[in-house]
Amino acid sequence: MTFDLAARLAARRAEHLFRQRPLLESPQGPQVRVDGQPLLAFCSNDYLGLASHPEVVRALLDGAERWGVGGGASHLVIGHSQPHHVLEEALAEFTGRPRALLFSTGYMANLAAVTALVGQGDTVLEDRLNHASLLDAGLLSAARFSRYRHNDAASLASRLDKASGNTLVVTDGVFSMDGDLADLPALAATAKARGAWLMVDDAHGFGALGASGGGIVEHFGLGLEEVPVLVGTLGKAFGTAGAFVAGSAELIETLVQFARPYIYTTSQPPAVACASLKSLELLRTEGWRREHLAALIARFRAGAAELGLTLMDSPTPIQPLLIGDSARAVELSRLLRERGILVGAIRPPTVPAGTARLRVTLSAAHSVAQVERLLDALGECQALLPPVEQ
Ligand code: PMP
Repeated sequence: MTFDLAARLAARRAEHLFRQRPLLESPQGPQVRVDGQPLLAFCSNDYLGLASHPEVVRALLDGAERWGVGGGASHLVIGHSQPHHVLEEALAEFTGRPRALLFSTGYMANLAAVTALVGQGDTVLEDRLNHASLLDAGLLSAARFSRYRHNDAASLASRLDKASGNTLVVTDGVFSMDGDLADLPALAATAKARGAWLMVDDAHGFGALGASGGGIVEHFGLGLEEVPVLVGTLGKAFGTAGAFVAGSAELIETLVQFARPYIYTTSQPPAVACASLKSLELLRTEGWRREHLAALIARFRAGAAELGLTLMDSPTPIQPLLIGDSARAVELSRLLRERGILVGAIRPPTVPAGTARLRVTLSAAHSVAQVERLLDALGECQALLPPVEQ
């Protein structure tokens, strides 16, 4: 026996699931250069337009001059430097929680929180549409793992009735492929009534939602009581990299002591923490970014509805257009690209069969004119395809 990787890759191609990795030859921003082509991009998670902000770049450079490049070691050895510490304190204060703990990626923060909190004999219940990192975390934890129907508190309740041991309910705050919000008030009440803890991964909401950017918990006015475990990531609205878990002092100390993805990895470069601190400052002081983004979302939704396109129930910068058929979604994405516009086609197995979509994401860095250009192009491309049979 040998590893027949060629056959495996060929099968992937035959199923039309082979993924291409576009090469970005410019900084993040609305106008990018990809594989030699200038394009107007609607597929980044840089929701507030901070990834290439000169002040954030400057904070990174100053941080590198002062602190060097590498984290040097894990946090518990000698990798926990002052910028990490200051950022953790600032994130704790911003989220109104006693403590926050910094991670190098959201994927690791999710693995860490779930596996440190539940294990054999416990239960982890997850929304069916949760991000892959949360599903992986549930499987890795060795707790009894089950998925409830998307955003359905009744489905969660019936699983909670059968749960044993410590029980953790885990949900995305904003679902990454649909853009819809978790029904946190209902999920929190259901979990709390049965003594379970709720963990929310607000990767796509933190910084972008809520009057001051506090994310989905601010949007719904929920605190530590309802959401004991809050995860936010810094690679999206913050425009930098990394993630954090925020919660009680006991929760954070438990992660420091027991979370293997925290203990056994080199800390992120301290200069990145300096950049994230600057992003936090901009996000707090420049509320116009969220206001402009909200206006773009409204403009896009109105225009797409006028074109007869199928929007999803999303009040967030993730504005997928439901196409259905994978080949049609890919063809629309290709036609848009011919017109200088980059929007990704998302197909099964990333999304359920028959729900292929164009995943449009908007950013405060876009102008109204750029969103209108996208709408014009969508109208043109749609007209080139045969009508969908009802
Ligand atoms: N959670 C969600 C909902 C995400 O969409 C992502 C990344 N796309 C992550 C976690 C992982 O975060 P990171 O990219 O920082 O690893």
